[in-house]
Amino acid sequence: MEWGIITKENFKSAYDVPIKRWDPLSTVSITTKDFGLRKERVRYYGHYSYISPIRGERPKGFKSGEISYEHLDCTEYPIDEVKDIFMSISEGKKIYYNDGTPIGDGFTIIVTEDEKRRDSPFSKTPHKIERIPDSCKAITLINRYPSMARIVSSEIKTSMEEILPAHIKLAQGINLVTISRHFYPSLCFNLIPENVLLGILLSMKAAILYTIEEAIERDYYDIPVSPFFNIGTKVGGSQPRIHGQIYIDLTMDGHGLRLEGYLRAFKEMGDNCHLCETTHGDSDRIILKTKYWTFYTTGSPVRNYHIRFHPNEHIRRFSQLNVNQLLDLAKSLKMIFVALDNIEIDKNRNILFNCCPYGYDANFHLFGDIIPHEIIGGAEMGDDMRVARKLPHEAADEIRRAISG
Ligand SMILES: [Zn+2]
Repeated sequence: MEWGIITKENFKSAYDVPIKRWDPLSTVSITTKDFGLRKERVRYYGHYSYISPIRGERPKGFKSGEISYEHLDCTEYPIDEVKDIFMSISEGKKIYYNDGTPIGDGFTIIVTEDEKRRDSPFSKTPHKIERIPDSCKAITLINRYPSMARIVSSEIKTSMEEILPAHIKLAQGINLVTISRHFYPSLCFNLIPENVLLGILLSMKAAILYTIEEAIERDYYDIPVSPFFNIGTKVGGSQPRIHGQIYIDLTMDGHGLRLEGYLRAFKEMGDNCHLCETTHGDSDRIILKTKYWTFYTTGSPVRNYHIRFHPNEHIRRFSQLNVNQLLDLAKSLKMIFVALDNIEIDKNRNILFNCCPYGYDANFHLFGDIIPHEIIGGAEMGDDMRVARKLPHEAADEIRRAISG
């Protein structure tokens, strides 16, 4: 079931494949046309979980005895000595850990090499690794240990639909991972060249467009797309090399509660888009405003030092960002990450991009979140609520000083 392929040969039971389970206590049917109502299918919004047995088998970043996260020092990081799981893919040859065990088995599926299209996102056959040119900045791969099934034979699909109750679906979709061609530790943003970070963002964009085109060819529609970065083990980053990820959900059964909130809020705003018009607390929460982007500390933080950002242009999706916007984003993200390091904010951080799903005819302004790691408590798990201690305008002032510092 690696690579998200389910066939008669590897299918054991309906509970041994990735499933998407909607919580019956927080799931309701979609009834609005611009948020995905379709006559031919019942669709939901609410809380759901992907449950994927294959996730447990994914390798952890470094083997013991190798350089690890714990040895990390962003000023003197021994990049040349690092061996990580992606190295055999980028170098196109067998590479061995210091104890003699080989890294990987020599197979991969490459969706985009920089922006160039390679293997189909629906490819059924992983191929032998080959050397990626040194000049390449980033490649986007099919995640070998996905939370969704990418290719499922139609008999299995039909039989699962018959067996499973309405709130449990076969989780269908594509999980992509974009890595830098050369090793850069994700926790050391000061070491990542701007053009490499730009290369990652461009490769992600090209892979999204390729995947969506191919998905529509295969009659998928209404597709939520979530690009994100997990930076550090505490926020889900199992690999030490800088990498972006994209979840493309092809289950066609709706979207999550959080996205429903965003869709409704933008609908209520109508032509008066909050992100186009606001000054973000009379500008004292803005930390960086460039030609293309605005970064500010959100007034209702999910964690202390939660930063929100949006393109100044009212566009709906990550894949609509042009190269100027992405280059400016790469520069700005580096600047902000280094500033956060300088004021000693936890280096484990997520970057999320909130996008309008493909096929939805909703008003939406793309925005992102930078969320540093923090432990959260019980009351906060109980609802869409957080308790923060840092006043957002004071957090903004600290970050601004660190940027200009
Ligand atoms: Zn707007």
